[in-house]
Amino acid sequence: MFAIGAISLAALYFYQVMEPSLPARAAILNLGLAAVCLLMLLDVAKLPHRTPVEQLLFGLVAIACSGFLLRLLVFQVPGIPTDQIEGAYWLIISISDALICSTLAVAIFAIISVDVMDGIKSEAQTDALSGLFNRRGFETRALDALARQTADAQVTIILSDLDHFKSINDRFGHSSGDRVIRTFSEILKDKAPRDAIVARLGGEEFAVLLPPGQTTAAHLLAEAARSAFKEMAPGLVSDEFSPTASFGIAVACKDESLLALIDRADRALYQAKREGRDCIRQVG
Ligand code: GH3
Ligand code: MG
Ligand code: MG
Repeated sequence: MFAIGAISLAALYFYQVMEPSLPARAAILNLGLAAVCLLMLLDVAKLPHRTPVEQLLFGLVAIACSGFLLRLLVFQVPGIPTDQIEGAYWLIISISDALICSTLAVAIFAIISVDVMDGIKSEAQTDALSGLFNRRGFETRALDALARQTADAQVTIILSDLDHFKSINDRFGHSSGDRVIRTFSEILKDKAPRDAIVARLGGEEFAVLLPPGQTTAAHLLAEAARSAFKEMAPGLVSDEFSPTASFGIAVACKDESLLALIDRADRALYQAKREGRDCIRQVG
């Protein structure tokens, strides 16, 4: 864009001062503006998924680009005296510039508003301490995944809860507890596949939802997270206390609600707690 601006300005100077010519200046200006529009179009075209507002921007810039090119034709109309053509040209410029600028301004304002709203939405669905989804973010995505499951490809949920977490807070302070939560969150995120939904549902309780068809990976994933945490935990809060986590796994049944699925995984988790903690139990 800088290069287009510099070349256009140099050429405009030449046809204004050295060899004054309105048609030449009009051609340079409109070609320059059309080239800038083309660069914007290429940028928007490169986006993998265009939102409706980006589609709108694409359309408006395409119209603006065609407008700049069409203006060149004003000087090509035969049989009209130059002073009349110049008058018509300035009139077209004033009207079309006002239209183009105001519609582009509205489109850009809409894009900025959508970006800001997206940012707020994603903040409202993210847990600040762990950087994982919070319960709201989890539920929105988990419901989508459940709606996609079929008889052959079910959704699987892994619930996990840090063991004796209250005593970590009580003995070593809340900031040590927070450090443990962050460490465990990083492990879960690291071990889960990219398409899994990893969330901190509240306090020291976490959920990983595997999309349809990854049922057999659930136990391996829970075991990988459990052993990685056990390995990393010594020295995390103190030499005498090594945090651990328990896991409960449930595979969704046909037409099962998210609440019912979480409830069954919770029962598996509490079985793990009853049977000594630092282990994995599965139902269904
Ligand atoms: P169990 O092994 O049976 O799970 O015992 P627990 O002590 O982990 O479970 P309990 O539900 O009794 O205690 C959970 C504690 O988690 C209580 C609360 O103070 C603490 N907690 C909840 N949210 C946070 C947080 O954001 N940061 C910290 N540091 N602690 C939290
Ligand atoms: Mg708990
Ligand atoms: Mg706990």
